[in-house]
Amino acid sequence: MAGTKALLTLENFINGKFVPCNSYLDSYDPSTGEVYCRVPNSGKEEIEAAVEAARAAFPGWSARSPQERSQVLHRLADLLEQSLEELAQAESRDQGDEVSGWRGPRFRLRELGYVYHHVFSIPGEAAGLISPWNLPLYLLTWKVAPAIAAGNTVIAKPSELTSVTAWMMCKLLEKAGVPPGVVNIVFGTGPRVGEALVSHPEVPLISFTGSQPTAERITQLSAPHCKKLSLELGGKNPAIIFEDANLEECIPTTVRSSFANQGEICLCTSRIFVQKSIYSEFLEKFVQATRMWKVGIPSDPSASMGALISKAHLEKVRSYIKRARLEGAQILCGEGVDTLSLPPRNCAGYFMLPTVITDIKDESCCMKEEIFGPVTCVVPFESEDEVIQRANSVKYGLAATVWSSNVGRIHRVAKKLQSGLVWTNCWLIRELNLPFGGMKSSGVGREGAKDSYEFFTEVKTITIKH
Ligand code: NAD
Repeated sequence: MAGTKALLTLENFINGKFVPCNSYLDSYDPSTGEVYCRVPNSGKEEIEAAVEAARAAFPGWSARSPQERSQVLHRLADLLEQSLEELAQAESRDQGDEVSGWRGPRFRLRELGYVYHHVFSIPGEAAGLISPWNLPLYLLTWKVAPAIAAGNTVIAKPSELTSVTAWMMCKLLEKAGVPPGVVNIVFGTGPRVGEALVSHPEVPLISFTGSQPTAERITQLSAPHCKKLSLELGGKNPAIIFEDANLEECIPTTVRSSFANQGEICLCTSRIFVQKSIYSEFLEKFVQATRMWKVGIPSDPSASMGALISKAHLEKVRSYIKRARLEGAQILCGEGVDTLSLPPRNCAGYFMLPTVITDIKDESCCMKEEIFGPVTCVVPFESEDEVIQRANSVKYGLAATVWSSNVGRIHRVAKKLQSGLVWTNCWLIRELNLPFGGMKSSGVGREGAKDSYEFFTEVKTITIKH
């Protein structure tokens, strides 16, 4: 392990206290490739302690009124707002509002002559929350907030690649009034601590956001316990651009939808279908605009894009570009075509240029698999039916964009796309209370404030005969 004593060292947060771990992992700064901090390499033992704390805290926390839990979430949101300028606070705030408007357990009473039916929503006890490295605080709070709002206690496992913001949030929990044991955060790798959490018999709910192969493993491990699972997974998101699209808006938005956050947002566009009559014009302007999408170091305010998350991920993304080249595709700009210049200190960082591929077949792995980096493929199409069929021909169905000025076409196409989210003439306009989530292999169990809230409760019907 590199250089050491001065390094920031994170600790697990269990039962309201920071607890050191027996072993640690190095965590790297993507912009330099240098070790930046040490992250606990937790395992079964730490999960046992966290589950015990979460179970002990459950009776007290779940017995509090929704209004009391709402106040705690609002305080946490205030503290997050003060401490971090990140999108994540919005989620805590939303869940605070949501729960304060909630009248307690969902209650329906129906008299059918001789019976009453009562329907309750009750919290599911200790929930296991596993989140990925991209948008790390946002996606963590998206899970923690609805879970504790509904009265659950939680054991969260952030990604080992991006653990620091979760650790910082732990420092605010006591101040916000979150009792010990309600939120426990255990750091470490998926195979070690993630699997220990998923396999634990006393953790009946697992909310997971991450990749489809990991979801398969989590599903296998959960099956013997019949756990309740919410899986928010990857995408291979198409943008469909018809000849009547407003290219002045479409081109900059599609550059952003392809390369924002280095293309490391599950909702990023990675296949662009352009109607044949405007294909050449689009391609020329799109490549020109992509070249303006500046790659830079974190302190460069003019940069639109930074480093990728890890060396392994950078290599994976590059391997797709190599394969495309071998298949005869053309790389129009970016990796291997243009030159990236970085300050000497950042030359070992995980940077690459936004890359546009064309002349590529729909069957190519670049058109089928999630790359999750700053790479997008542009291909022509002729008719509406054809493009719908091609856009739907992947296993994923998370997000799509449709560009056209024909309202009828927008409705027809959006409806037929196998995609949980469809933006038309825009991208990433979000309303957190709307359902969010993918179709097909992009997920199971939708999120969004109300939906996640429902996930974290169990419904019970009591029928009384009189
Ligand atoms: P990943 O599947 O590798 O890891 C996600 C989390 O699961 C991490 O915390 C990891 O440590 C843990 N994990 C890994 N193996 C595990 C195992 N065997 N058991 C238990 N936990 C395990 O995903 P990633 O690379 O961190 O994130 C990128 C992926 O997340 C992409 O596929 C992206 O599309 C997806 N994602 C989806 C959404 C969404 O809302 N649909 C949002 C963000 C990211």
